[in-house]
Amino acid sequence: MMHKVPPRIVVIGAGFAGLSAAITLADKGYSVTVVEKNKEIGGRARVFEKDGFTFDMGPSWYWMPEVMEKFFNQFAKSTTDYFELKRLDPSYQVIYGKDDVLAVPASYQALKNAFEEIEEGSSVQLDQFLAEAEYKYNVGINEFVHKPGLSISEFMDVKVIKAATKLDLLQSFAKHVRRYFKSPKLLQLLEFPVLFLGAVPKNIPALYSMMNYADIKLGTWYPMGGFGKLAQAMHLLAVEKGVAFKTNTAVQSIEVQAGQAKKVITAQGEIEADVVIGAGDYHHIDQHLLPKPLRNYSEKAGIKE
Ligand SMILES: Cc1cc2nc3c(=O)[nH]c(=O)nc-3n(C[C@H](O)[C@H](O)[C@H](O)COP(=O)(O)OP(=O)(O)OC[C@H]3O[C@@H](n4cnc5c(N)ncnc54)[C@H](O)[C@@H]3O)c2cc1C
Repeated sequence: MMHKVPPRIVVIGAGFAGLSAAITLADKGYSVTVVEKNKEIGGRARVFEKDGFTFDMGPSWYWMPEVMEKFFNQFAKSTTDYFELKRLDPSYQVIYGKDDVLAVPASYQALKNAFEEIEEGSSVQLDQFLAEAEYKYNVGINEFVHKPGLSISEFMDVKVIKAATKLDLLQSFAKHVRRYFKSPKLLQLLEFPVLFLGAVPKNIPALYSMMNYADIKLGTWYPMGGFGKLAQAMHLLAVEKGVAFKTNTAVQSIEVQAGQAKKVITAQGEIEADVVIGAGDYHHIDQHLLPKPLRNYSEKAGIKE
């Protein structure tokens, strides 16, 4: 139930996480202010403009387009209201060495042919590898990613528990992929997407072959005008929903009284808040902005104090 005076929410950070939280909450009627230390919106996906040129500062691979489409659809919008998405062909190039380049084709049959040229029999293996990856993708996205994750009970469902056992959470990605392919080139091609998760394949569960399904079957897309168009679109929607933005404003600390957020402190002054959402890097919010007794991790050991 909405309060008469909606709680004041301060979101720290205008990256995708902060923007999506701000839009969702403003849509529900909350009063939302996003505080961003940079002068640009977008966080790691912000753009740099110089002499009429625009440079994306971070992401360039636009995968799983339905995720962002679903996000905008919640607010009766579509990505097509803001930018044109094109599937790239080739999707990207893998540069193995000088004069040794594989342009990864968008067409699955063409990719299978390329696999076969590198390792005999690998195109049949690819079918099997991706059939399994597709299962993991569908279960992962529908049964896990889109759940709010507020309670373990969300996952206490026979279908989800059964599925979890088939998700390959205990085997490493590196081991999994080697059950299908031998060629170092194919292994490199299939192992690169999991690097997006910030770890090496031997430390990532085989569940994440779902990334290969996203890559190969769902494709690599590009928002015409650059990735910054996505941040711009979310910014426009946030403004339309009434979100206020304070850019060039770094939060220095979060003040909490009796377990309740009171305000955020910036060099430009204080901003009153009933709820603060930290949408910057976890380490920074936990170690630098929260009062010491409320931190989840100790500075040295990286463990809960
Ligand atoms: C070079 C590069 C390439 C990438 N390539 C891809 C790709 O191809 N495909 C893909 O999907 N992803 C890619 N990523 C990852 C993707 O860009 C990020 O996952 C995503 O942008 C993170 O969004 P976020 O909102 O979680 O965090 P961020 O974008 O980091 O947003 C956090 C925001 O909080 C602000 N902030 C932090 N502390 C404070 C403070 N104290 N006060 C005020 N503001 C604060 C920061 O300035 C920032 O704007 C890439 C990232 C990089 C860096």
